Amino acid sequence: MKVTFPHMGNLYICIKVLMEELGIDYVIPPFTSKRTLEIGTRHVPECACLPLKITTGNLIEAYQVGADTVLMAGGCGPCRFGYYCEMYREILKDLNYNMNVITLEPPNGNMVKLLQRIKNLLGGFNLYKILKAIKNTTQVAIEVDEVECLASKIRPRELEKGDVDKIYKKFQKDVIAAKGIEQIKKLIRDAKNNLLKVKTDEKANPLKIGIVGEIYTTIDYYTNFDIQSKLGAIGVETHRYVTISDWITEHIVKNALRLPRNLSYAHAAKPYLGKMIGGHARETIGNTILYAQQGYDGVIQIYPFTCMPEIVAESILPAVERDFDIPVLTLIIDEMTGEAGYFTRIEAFVDLLHRRKEKGTVDFRYILSGD
Ligand code: SF4
Repeated sequence: MKVTFPHMGNLYICIKVLMEELGIDYVIPPFTSKRTLEIGTRHVPECACLPLKITTGNLIEAYQVGADTVLMAGGCGPCRFGYYCEMYREILKDLNYNMNVITLEPPNGNMVKLLQRIKNLLGGFNLYKILKAIKNTTQVAIEVDEVECLASKIRPRELEKGDVDKIYKKFQKDVIAAKGIEQIKKLIRDAKNNLLKVKTDEKANPLKIGIVGEIYTTIDYYTNFDIQSKLGAIGVETHRYVTISDWITEHIVKNALRLPRNLSYAHAAKPYLGKMIGGHARETIGNTILYAQQGYDGVIQIYPFTCMPEIVAESILPAVERDFDIPVLTLIIDEMTGEAGYFTRIEAFVDLLHRRKEKGTVDFRYILSGD
């Protein structure tokens, strides 16, 4: 058995730890590329969500390099994520690819079922080993997100453009060859230390933009054209609440252990969207409000074409923009999205935010008219 999984940003690092800790043979799919998207688009129904197309492409490419089993989280609620596993099964079967799809549903209280599936996957049951693997995976997910967050903070302040990207991309590449949790933790430590050594402009006061939207398109840097790195390169600091570690701790671990979850986004969103409608719509509304309250200059919402929860969120965002005086740019991505047009919109938005910030900071009493 050779297990694989779809890509989503740095998720491969966390799954690598999980597989190695559990002693499961695995294949990391080739990194998402134009080819991946073309393969997925060819085999997935046109109206399906973009993440389904890209991740199906990942699985087919993984099959071509030897994978025979897919490990995938399940989903529930009124959005299409819950059908992903079934869609994978049907598409791979139609293509005569002999791949077994194992769904790890979020426990939602039913730990027995989940543990049974894990038992089948492991060919036995060792509770200590499983708990240790979950603990280490969660820890690595948190630390990898810390590296990402640090990179987004330092990038707009770096004196030598490209220093942060060099360190960050090297870390993402080196981690593939690393063996075992200790080597991975060392790479994380090194990446953090190297980022902290980057020479920065102490006086820099970059624009701050919050990234909200559908989880896959906001996290997956191939799909969103590496928006956080590109914004950093033009001197904009970015932040994203929806992360892989947040998803693991808030949705899986805390749910399973019945621990209280951090629902600050839900409280903030309540006057506008009081119910969970699937996907991350409530996070989109709530986090936009939190960013406004924290003095961010703007928010960018990203979602895949036809994503139902985010369409609802988009229709609510103008009220949030008005009530909290924070500009929001919505970017909708599909397989036809061109990078040039996408960044023209982002640059125009950044210009607007610069002008707003200047207006807010310039004392007009001392400005003489040039007319
Ligand atoms: S959140 Fe949106 S893109 Fe993701 S599965 Fe649901 S409908 Fe599709």
